[in-house]
Parts: sequence; C-alpha cells; structure tokens
Amino acid sequence: MSQTDSRITPFDTLLVANRGEIACRVMRTARAMGLRTVAVYSDADADARHVREADEAVRLGPPAARESYLNIEAVVEAAKRTGAGAIHPGYGFLSENGAFVEALEAAGITFVGPPASAIAAMGDKSAAKARMANAGVPLVPGYHSDDQDDALLRREADKIGYPVLLKASAGGGGKGMRVVESGENFQAALDGCRRESQAAFGDTRMLIEKYLTQPRHVEVQVFCDSHGNGVYLFERDCSVQRRHQKVLEEAPAPGMTAELRREMGEAAVRAAKEIGYVGAGTVEFLLDFSQGQDGSFYFMEMNTRLQVEHPVTEMITGQDLVEWQLRVAMGEALPLTQEALTITGHSFEARLYAEDPEQDFLPATGKLERFAMDLEGAGLDPERVRLDSGVDTGDVVSMHYDPMLAKLIVHGDDRDQALSTLNRALAALDVQGVVTNRAFLQRLATHPAFKACELDTRFIEKNEATLFAPKQYTTEAYAGAALIGLNQLARECESDSPWDRHDGFRLNAPHTIRISLCDPANVQDEASVVVVEGIRASGADPWDLTIGGETLTARLQHLEGDAVAVTLNGHRRRLQARRDGNVVVMVDPRGETRLFWRRIDAIDHGHHEAESTLTAPMHGTVVALLVEAGQKVEKGMPLMVMEAMKMEHTMTAPADGHVESFHFNAGDTVGQGDVLLEFAPAE
Ligand code: ADP
Repeated sequence: MSQTDSRITPFDTLLVANRGEIACRVMRTARAMGLRTVAVYSDADADARHVREADEAVRLGPPAARESYLNIEAVVEAAKRTGAGAIHPGYGFLSENGAFVEALEAAGITFVGPPASAIAAMGDKSAAKARMANAGVPLVPGYHSDDQDDALLRREADKIGYPVLLKASAGGGGKGMRVVESGENFQAALDGCRRESQAAFGDTRMLIEKYLTQPRHVEVQVFCDSHGNGVYLFERDCSVQRRHQKVLEEAPAPGMTAELRREMGEAAVRAAKEIGYVGAGTVEFLLDFSQGQDGSFYFMEMNTRLQVEHPVTEMITGQDLVEWQLRVAMGEALPLTQEALTITGHSFEARLYAEDPEQDFLPATGKLERFAMDLEGAGLDPERVRLDSGVDTGDVVSMHYDPMLAKLIVHGDDRDQALSTLNRALAALDVQGVVTNRAFLQRLATHPAFKACELDTRFIEKNEATLFAPKQYTTEAYAGAALIGLNQLARECESDSPWDRHDGFRLNAPHTIRISLCDPANVQDEASVVVVEGIRASGADPWDLTIGGETLTARLQHLEGDAVAVTLNGHRRRLQARRDGNVVVMVDPRGETRLFWRRIDAIDHGHHEAESTLTAPMHGTVVALLVEAGQKVEKGMPLMVMEAMKMEHTMTAPADGHVESFHFNAGDTVGQGDVLLEFAPAE
C-alpha cells in the first residue's frame, strides 16, 4: 500500500451494518481479500444467512429497524466489541446517514463510503441542483431557488410549461412529489405537496421541474479515491420501475452512442468531484429519447452509496465494486484509470421480491420450503449467471424488512443473448413456500416491448394490459397439467404404498379419467373450465388425451428434481413442474403456467370381464367404506369413496349384489388399477 493516506487507519476486520443479500455479497469480497467479517443482526435475524456466513456476529436489538439496523449507537458498539476497524453500510439503513458517518469519524472507525459532507451536499434536492448547475451538469429545466412565494412558483411553472413536476426539496422515496398537468391545478397540487412534505420531512420547500413524459432512467456508476482520481464505470438503464421502485436493470443502456456515454460519464464525474466525493456513487439521469430528442440527459440525483443494481456493472466491466470500495477505504488509489475500463457484453439484473403480483404486490411472508437454482439442468453456464441471495432453503421471510430476497444477474455476449439467459435462469429458479414476483419477472423479461428496447419509466404502466392480462392457456398447457397431476398422484401413492402393482388388473379396467381444469384465479367461473379426458391401456403405455375434440398421445418422464419432460404427439418439452395443493405449476423459459384441478372423475366403461372385482380408476387415498361386506346393495349404490387431488370420487355397485370383501381400509393409498374389492353379483 504505497499510496496510503495519512488520515486512514488500516483495518483487518470489516463490520457490515446491513442484512440480506447485500450483507452476504459484501462479506464474500471481504473474505476473499483476507478480512475478518462481522455481521450484525436483529432478533428476527438471529439465524439469518448473513449471520451464518460471518466470522462473528453481534446482536443489535429487537426486530424493528429503528431499534436494530438503524441504531447508530448499537452498531458503533458492535464494531468496538469486535475490533472492527471499518464499517460497510450496504444500501438503505444507515448508508446515507450523515450522523452515522460523523459518529464513526468520532470513534476512529473507517466508513466505507463518502465523507459526511458529500452526503449532506446531495441530501437537499434544491441545494444539490444549485451545485450541479455550478459544475456544468445539465439539469431538467426548472426552478430551484429559495424564494417560495406561491405566486412566484406559479409564474415559474407557467414559464417552464406544463406538465410540470413539483418536488419537495427535502424529499425522497417519491413523497411530496406531484405531476401538475395545467395552471388551474397548480395551487391545489402545491398545497398537497407542502402538506405531504411537512408531514414526512418537516419542511415545505418545493422545486419545480419540467415533467418529461417518456424519459428513461439511466444512471452512471462513478468511483473516486482520496487522491483526487475519479472515473465512471459506464451506465445502467433502470427504466423498468413499479412505483419508482426498480425491477429490472441492465448495462449498458440500449441505444447509447460512444459520444453520449462519454458526455454522461464525464458529467457524472464532475458531479462527484464538485462535492468532494470518495468511494462508489451513482449519478442518476433522466435520458430523453422521445420524439425530436436525440438523447438529452438531465441530472436527477446522486446516490452516495453502492446501489442494489451494481452487479450489472460488475458483469460488463469484470470489476468487483466492493473490492474497489474497500481498497479506496484503505487509502489506495483506484485500481484502474478511465482508459483501462471497457465494456464486454451485456448484463441484466432481476429483483426477486417476496410479494404477490396478483394481490397488488402485497409483501408475502413464510418459510422458504425450497430456494434453489439448477443451472446444470437448465443448461446454463455458471460463469454467466449469478444469484446474489440473502436466503436459503428453510429460511423464514418475515414482515420486518424489505421483501427483496435475491437478485438474479446474467451476462451475455449481446443483449439478446443475455435476455434469453435471463429467461432461462428465471425459469430455473425454484422458490417454494413463499409467494414471489418470479412469474411477473418472466412476463416482463419475455415481453416483446422489452425485447425491442421500448424503454421508459412508465414501461409497466404502459404495458399493463399485456403484463397483467388473464392467462391464455394452450392445448399443451391443459395436457401438461393433466398429465403432471396424474403422475404426481401416482408418485405420491407409490412412494408409501406397501402393495405391489399388477398392471394386468388395469387391463380389466378401461376407465376414462376426466379432469376439469381452470385458471386458479377464476375457480368459480364454470364457463372457463376445460375438460381433459385421458385413457390408457396399461400403466406403462402413453396416455391418449382428448381436449376439445383434439386427441394427443402424451407421455411424461421425470428428470432430475422437479424437472419433467412432457411429450405430446412426439413433441418433447422440458419444464419444471410441481403440485401446489390443487394447482399444477409449470415453468419453462417462456413463462409460468398454473392450472387448477377443479374435478377429477373416472368413467367406468363397464367392460368388466367378470363383475367380480372393482379396481381403482386412479391413484388416490381411500376415504371411507360405505357398506359392510355381505350387505345387499343395488346397482349404482355407493360402496366406497376415494380421494385424489383433494377431490372425492365414489365407487358404485356395478350390479345388484353384495361386496364379498374390501382389500383396503380408510386411509390406505391405492394405485391405479388396484383391486379395491371383490363383488358378487346377485344370481
Ligand atoms: P425521490 O428522491 O423521491 O425518489 P426522484 O427525484 O429521484 O425522487 O424521482 C423519482 C422518479 O420520478 C424518477 O426515477 C423518475 O422516474 C421520476 N421523475 C423524476 N423527475 C422527473 C421529471 N422531471 N420528469 C419525469 N419523471 C421524473
């Protein structure tokens, strides 16, 4: 370390003041650099993955963030207890908290991030804009001065031209922000924003900007060291957002020219230098490619921390940004100069949230019964796919923190290749037990407009109709769901049945199985039900499936794990399949399909050679025996009830007569074709 700054104390132990995927990710690099790692945790996270992976871990307090991850005193105390010479804040929590940085400075602990003064300079939107204008960074046309007279603000808005965007100077997280379409609505919007801003930030100052109707969110990764060097590591496009929350990110931004990239990069470095920045930072811009615009860009804000989406930059530059952060914090100079940085290929990141897109993205909780990704099975190159996760199978997702579980990051030689890898990887991601946005991410990533780079910050809103459209099911989907469900039944019965199967019995029982399927979101709607009829001669034969007049020869083969191959009329498809209660879930790189088993019936064709035995038409469980052996019954009387897929099926008397003996009791599992009972027809 030839270039060590005299103000910097070397450290060999790093405390990560965060949780989840980012804590795990930061510790991964720290370990690789030979540092000892310290995690901190709340009571809700005592056994969380970041705690398991750290060399040491210190409890901060109760689950509530303000009593644990936001508790400055407790974090500083944990660093002292463990001899941690430096703290990495991750993102969120204390990462942009000036008071925290000051507390560390006072305690002689290195903050892996910028000085408190740089955080403060970007904290106030109006003040930040004034400084950016000073540094020659382009701003959205607008007003951001101290004079806050209502009439003056209105005149400024008129001058800018509608629509305008009112923003709270002290704002963040979209609070105190409103679009004003015309002059008549201005005063009401101003009053509303002021009230919101007063409530959230204790401040009523406003700024006004021209509202761009089709902007893209393009941000530049910058890095500065304490020796006066600054570089940009190119840009990321984060236009796909839901309520200002990023969902899919990519690097580089599609449609950039070398010249625009350099202009934006240099403007971002100027912005960082203007405020004496040190470490990793992101300068966010709105990029306007709408009609007549050739890519004007405007400064929006600077995030003075590592971003969630930093891995896409790592993928295209081949650099480890956390390593850069730690080296800069140790007082070293930046590892590379601007000229030495290059872009290779294209990268995407998808954020996996525990939330339910079907219920307005309500956060979901629960135990992760399974959290895995089978790269090999999906034919994916581990060098090209990265899963940054804060959880593992068996972990519990609580309601205390951000619902992001993991990030899936992929790399390709170009955008199309990277996108197809993203879709395969999303399909290979197997999450069970907790509802996630995985299927929604697949709908986004397979959307034609996304493939065609029709990006802007209102992408999700604009494509709502197709992104949330009721599912259109194909014949293949119905056939697959029927076959997978039937095979699941068979497997469940075979796994714990003590009885041998004799396929010969099945020959005597030509039953047609009739399965009624529908959209799980629409189970009450009779009209949407589709019936699949299946018949097969014996256990090993393919099924003949009939769906809406079309007949298909269908076979199913189990591959590794949940992977299956469904072959329909000689067309074989590989997919992940499982049964979730009465719903069959099928996932392939084109998306996820769920179908609900509404009914299952067996139709007895009555071709019994001798009506002396009754065989099980399907795999299932015996629910009840309804008559006694020897009791006289009439043809059609119920004898026994079976259950399959939580649906009951009643076995009836084939003729007048009596049951001689039952072969099973209530609770027993039976396989298709098993002899259930011996029947004696009346003479
Ligand atoms: P906050 O700090 O509250 O998140 P920002 O200023 O970062 O607010 O803006 C949040 C989002 O609002 C941006 O990502 C962008 O999508 C949108 N936005 C901000 N300014 C404008 C503008 N002038 N025109 C159009 N959209 C904007």
